[in-house]
Amino acid sequence: MPLSTRILLGLLIGAALGVLGNLLLSPAKGEAPGEAYRLGLEFADTIAYPVGQVFLRMLFMVVVPLVLTSLVLGVAGIGNLRALGRIGGRSVAWFVLTTACAVMLGLVLTNTLAPGRSMDPQVAGEVRALFEKEASSKIQLGKESPGFSVDTLVAIIPRNVVASAADPRDALGLIFFAIVFGIAMTLVPKERTQGLRDLLQGIYEVVIVVLGFAMAIAPYGVAGLIFATTFKLGLPVLGSLGYYLVAVLGGLLFHQFVVLGLLVSVFARYSPLLFFAKIRGLMVTAFSTSSSNATLPTTMRTATEEFGVPREVAGFVMPLGATLNMNGTALFEGVSVLFLAQVAGVELSLAAQLLVILLAVLSAIGTAGVPGGSLPLLAVVLEQVGVPAGMLALILGVDRLVDMTRTIPNVTSDLVCSLWIARSQGVQLKQ
Ligand code: ASP
Repeated sequence: MPLSTRILLGLLIGAALGVLGNLLLSPAKGEAPGEAYRLGLEFADTIAYPVGQVFLRMLFMVVVPLVLTSLVLGVAGIGNLRALGRIGGRSVAWFVLTTACAVMLGLVLTNTLAPGRSMDPQVAGEVRALFEKEASSKIQLGKESPGFSVDTLVAIIPRNVVASAADPRDALGLIFFAIVFGIAMTLVPKERTQGLRDLLQGIYEVVIVVLGFAMAIAPYGVAGLIFATTFKLGLPVLGSLGYYLVAVLGGLLFHQFVVLGLLVSVFARYSPLLFFAKIRGLMVTAFSTSSSNATLPTTMRTATEEFGVPREVAGFVMPLGATLNMNGTALFEGVSVLFLAQVAGVELSLAAQLLVILLAVLSAIGTAGVPGGSLPLLAVVLEQVGVPAGMLALILGVDRLVDMTRTIPNVTSDLVCSLWIARSQGVQLKQ
């Protein structure tokens, strides 16, 4: 059975058992809990929740090596692009701008729909109580999140990179270091950095396998987390997840078909209808593999064979885009951070939301193009704005579907970028 089906099954079984247990066993107001309910709680606390924690911790465990290797290699890759002059500059500008656009779309949607506020205040209070105890000591729920100021910008530069790697609230420091390191690597003669490059590539590949271990236990982890939550809190906790899904999937589809459709028509002067008809296979591949990296060969083939993008352009833009350019991931991060902040009762001021934009863009750039690649970084972003990372448990159950969907704009944006660059070089795109 494919992993995505098993994760979905885990979610359904965990949620069904939890909700049923809660309905049948939880004591009425003022009554003492029965033996069966106590056994259920015991099971939730000593078996289901710990299994979920194993999954979550496996994700957190890979953050530092994953961010370091994926970002350094990605940025160092741009160095080669310098040789191509404008292509390099244009691609990076495209990556940053379309990613920022996607986060903003996510934030506008989530501020408007406010899916997190649809949760019954009493249930939201219980959710908070549940996650508060495991939040890191620096987090105080219900407080306004730290905002965005000159100090935030200066503080991005870590005084001590080891300390910043050790502190989930200082992810920006690590990201900043990785970017500077990657840039510096391009300035050292290639022969002298080849060993380092190979080493980083090796570590990256091993870390991806470790992430694969985490994903392999995802069906059990997701079942455990959702069981523990629904057994204690009952059906209402699932209600606002529906709104969350509407916000995030709606946002992703809008970005894919409206925003990217518009960009393809403006920048590549290409009919959006024809464009989307031609990339059906690409969209299905991205959706079913849930991985920009795994879709890379299809993205390259679509660009060169369907649209006539020159091989050199596709050969540079696509691999770089598959690691650095993640529109869908950034949108998803914006929606999820805001949704969970709403549930947690953490007020995100305009300044704090600016910080979310910056964090989402940077962490989308740092995300590896593999299934679940953004989850470790999302955990870090949450902590940074004062939301306990454990609250990820609320959305992990439905994340596989969201992951599959967000991978579609992730790869489509790379393709549109390559069409734009090809056209700006005077290439006649295939109709
Ligand atoms: N699965 C996504 C991709 O490969 C990354 C993520 O958002 O988890 O593009």
